Amino acid sequence: MKKRLVLLGAPGSGKGTQAEMITRQFGIPVTSPGAILRREKDLGTSLGIETAEIIQHGGLVPDDTIVKLIEDWLRLHGAHGFVFDGFPRTLRQAESLRAILVRHRTPLELAIWLEVSEETVRDRISGRLQCRSCGFVTSVSAGNFAERSICPYCEGPLVRRNDDDSTVLQNRLNEYHAKTEPLARFYEEGGLLHRIDGNRDREAVFGDISRLLGAA
Ligand code: ADP
Repeated sequence: MKKRLVLLGAPGSGKGTQAEMITRQFGIPVTSPGAILRREKDLGTSLGIETAEIIQHGGLVPDDTIVKLIEDWLRLHGAHGFVFDGFPRTLRQAESLRAILVRHRTPLELAIWLEVSEETVRDRISGRLQCRSCGFVTSVSAGNFAERSICPYCEGPLVRRNDDDSTVLQNRLNEYHAKTEPLARFYEEGGLLHRIDGNRDREAVFGDISRLLGAA
């Protein structure tokens, strides 16, 4: 079974949801620079504070900062494979990742692109709620979260991400089109790219991913 993969796609394409399902089902460790940086901000570390403004405006954090996070994470947790959610997001990050993995002799096996329409992105992000304590993601339209915004798993507060507002989302989409979309070609040339229709429900998408991993 394949155990070294990156999940790519627009904001709201379902990368975080699928990464969570992959780790729960197959035990492959997952990391997301966005989640790490949000936690750093909540903890008030200098990294969290320095990057918060960029994130709040929908820009991309400098490549060197992100690559260092990933390199540190791989050193500690990378022995049993990895799923990266939201990394790489630029060509420089993809090239750095390739070089790091060559050094570790653990080449990437899959680059999965979750393709979604702009309508899906806007629908999902406008209703997205996230638990501030455990990171669980849901929607205002699921259950009765609109009235009672409490996480069903840990009872933490369910909140809107401050970069989910519609003008910030537009900036994130612009960054995605300009800097992340060119990665499709990079991974296509390496024979690693697989595109999946991410507009469907989470189980249907997960079924396709499981087949690509060689697990179904
Ligand atoms: P989404 O996929 O919904 O945009 P993420 O949690 O992956 O959410 O990212 C949130 C923010 O964190 C991004 O808008 C960006 O500012 C920053 N970020 C996350 N990953 C990267 C990355 N690989 N390179 C640069 N910035 C990143």
